[in-house]
Amino acid sequence: MDYDVAVVGGGVSGLLSALALSKEGKKVVLLEREPMVGGVLRSYNIEGYRVDTGPHIITRLEHGPLKLLMDKYFEVTPIFVPHGRYFVRLGGMVRPFPWNLRDWLSFDLIPPVDRLYLVKTLFSASYLLGEERDLNNLSVAELIGSGISPETGRFLDCMCAFMTGGGSMAATPVARFIDAERYKSISEGYLDKLYNVLMKEGGTDQTYPKTGVQSIVDSIVTSIGGRADLNVNEEVTGIDIGEKSVELSTTKDSYTADYLVYSGFSSELPKLARGLPKDYAALLGRIKRISSMTVWLGLKKKVFMEQGSEIWADSQPYSWVVPTSNYDPGLAPKDHQLVGFAFNMPQGFDLEREKRRALDMIYQTVPGVEQGVDFTHVQALVPEKAVWAVGAQFADVKSPVDRLYLVGTDTEKRSMGVTRASYSVVKLLSKLEDDKKI
Ligand SMILES: Cc1cc2nc3c(=O)[nH]c(=O)nc-3n(C[C@H](O)[C@H](O)[C@H](O)COP(=O)(O)OP(=O)(O)OC[C@H]3O[C@@H](n4cnc5c(N)ncnc54)[C@H](O)[C@@H]3O)c2cc1C
Repeated sequence: MDYDVAVVGGGVSGLLSALALSKEGKKVVLLEREPMVGGVLRSYNIEGYRVDTGPHIITRLEHGPLKLLMDKYFEVTPIFVPHGRYFVRLGGMVRPFPWNLRDWLSFDLIPPVDRLYLVKTLFSASYLLGEERDLNNLSVAELIGSGISPETGRFLDCMCAFMTGGGSMAATPVARFIDAERYKSISEGYLDKLYNVLMKEGGTDQTYPKTGVQSIVDSIVTSIGGRADLNVNEEVTGIDIGEKSVELSTTKDSYTADYLVYSGFSSELPKLARGLPKDYAALLGRIKRISSMTVWLGLKKKVFMEQGSEIWADSQPYSWVVPTSNYDPGLAPKDHQLVGFAFNMPQGFDLEREKRRALDMIYQTVPGVEQGVDFTHVQALVPEKAVWAVGAQFADVKSPVDRLYLVGTDTEKRSMGVTRASYSVVKLLSKLEDDKKI
């Protein structure tokens, strides 16, 4: 069958590509090996609860890439509920995350002398940025040095782990933090920027999609309507990129397209696509993916009262705790609460053993919670296809091969998760325009 574009993979990046390109007038086929589209952005019902594939908070909704794509291409949009605040749990205490200098100076989970030391470090980072130093190769540990206490080290290590998907301070590039600041600074003058650093609450453009993350996927599929063919249960098993077209073979059929948008693991592409340049195939093979575990607990009554989520810097491994039913009570039976505990894990971890360890840790951290549990569900998932660590390898949206483009969380370094996947699609559209393909 002949198409203008074949999209491999029906996660959010593949779906957004299919939506945008079909609305740009292209004849598109999307091929997904699973029985449903959505990839790691789905929700499902189980024992009276509605769980997501890991707790999700959607970032950069004010002027980020998803907003841009929604404004241009969506026919219907999800209802987004404000995330609320991030809280940090450390040394048995819980405090709001210190987004600005004023809050940072009174953040009593770490010693005052460290707070001052880190303010000094912030100014050093601004100086390096002004000097246009490449902050992708400078780690947070190198920038900070050895002048901090162990508890401050633990807090920073935990923040780094969340920003990179498991990396320590030594593995986290300073650029990862600067990326967030750059986004906030869009169209702001010097005085606005200064005000933000000193006073402004951060993370205010972060949200949860009502009824679960599935609503994002459902909105994309509804917006595609009949414009593109979305074929599920069909795995792409071979790709041949010729001079005039791309040939794909799947478990069911074969397809010809003018060009290909690949959204699976870039590291697996060399096994599928014949004849990629050797250097390029070797580069893709070096991409390291992230691995995670989520433990969902259904609680007979509400235990987590705040609108927002908690970062547990005391737990081993660190945990991110999101009571999703606080955003939408319909996700749990009446008066019950649904809470997701997400952990970064090493690849190939033992799910049953880690689940038991996680439950022990949760029950110790929140005394009395164990007696109120009426539902437990565990998931092992890949939240991002590439770790953003010092010296880490990423693919790019534009490949060195004519007719081959890549999207997804291993093709783009900005932000993370759904936002990163959306950035990759925005970049795809711009590259296709440059190449006169749309
Ligand atoms: C625990 C957890 C917490 C998270 N928290 C957040 C959060 O707070 N905020 C946020 O923005 N994001 C979060 N994410 C991440 C976000 O869900 C993902 O980064 C995003 O959905 C990835 O989309 P993708 O399209 O790049 O990849 P995927 O969803 O992995 O999609 C790739 C698709 O390609 C298909 N495929 C691969 N190879 C083939 C083939 N050969 N043939 C056919 N199909 C193929 C796969 O089956 C899959 O459906 C979280 C994820 C997890 C697991």
